[in-house]
Amino acid sequence: MRILAIETSCDDTGVGVVADGKVLANVVASQTPLHEQFGGVVPELASREHVSVLDDLVAEALKGAGLRLDEIDLLAATRGPGLVGPLLVGLTYAKSLAWGLGRPFYAIHHLEGHIHGALYGAAEAEPPFLVLIASGGHTHLFDMPRWGEYRLLGATRDDAAGEAFDKVARSLGLGYPGGPQIERLAREGDERAVPFTVPMRGRAGYDFSFSGLKTAAIRFVAEGYAAADIAASFQRVAVASLLGTLERAAADLGRERVIVAGGVSANALLRSRLAASDLQVHLPPLGLTADNGAMIALAAWRAYQTGRPYSGYDVEAMPYLPLGE
Ligand code: AMP
Ligand code: MG
Repeated sequence: MRILAIETSCDDTGVGVVADGKVLANVVASQTPLHEQFGGVVPELASREHVSVLDDLVAEALKGAGLRLDEIDLLAATRGPGLVGPLLVGLTYAKSLAWGLGRPFYAIHHLEGHIHGALYGAAEAEPPFLVLIASGGHTHLFDMPRWGEYRLLGATRDDAAGEAFDKVARSLGLGYPGGPQIERLAREGDERAVPFTVPMRGRAGYDFSFSGLKTAAIRFVAEGYAAADIAASFQRVAVASLLGTLERAAADLGRERVIVAGGVSANALLRSRLAASDLQVHLPPLGLTADNGAMIALAAWRAYQTGRPYSGYDVEAMPYLPLGE
């Protein structure tokens, strides 16, 4: 079963090819330089860029996989959530390929993509899982009792975790995306030097909140704390918030296996704290942490294996698409 999948929910164009659950190709064209000058993603520019690179990217992915287009058995694309213009480009492209080739099609939830990217290389892993997704647009905690079944336990009440890394980086005069820059600068800082507090600590439930950290960082900059100390101290409490809530939920629900995915899962401090915890952790390989096509193809492979009905060629893009609510 050879699957080609397209992911265009935001500003990265991703095309992945997966054969029987193995990633043969995963090419991503980043639009970061295009949007950098505006300080954020410009949806219309993102859509146009997806249109202009998709043909070449599909050809490159097929070449990398050593396959012709007519050797693809199944097409998939991200259905949502995301920016509607960018979603429409990838979804329409993939549906058109499926229809033209006479192949079945799966419309995949973006977060399911992240989940299956994190499970890559763990073919024997079976639910139940607890799932933490921390990215630039999402901070969600799910219980996943069975394949394809999700129960939302908590989410951020304001900024996403990655968004907090980006905003704190900006307040320190660092570039976008902020996560890797904060991580780098934090290595030179003292993680106890700046009095950030862990958000939501001691509260009932499993929600997150990160906007207070951004506000606090701006204040600490004005008060003259060293940038490296701010970076290190912010990173410590952001990671403590994610990990503390995850561990509490795991204990409450009796879950031992957890999946941690999304761009923030690349963070080395988060990874080392997870490794030191009692949890059995599935993390995406570093090439699959950010948005990419292979994770969508892997989710489609699982959907196929578990007998999910195919999507129609008329399935629509969904900018707002809840999971497990
Ligand atoms: P995504 O939305 O999944 O594409 O992930 C992008 C987000 O992940 C951005 O907000 C980044 O700042 C964040 N990110 C990427 N690498 C790291 C890192 N090493 N530490 C923390 N956040 C990161
Ligand atoms: Mg994402």
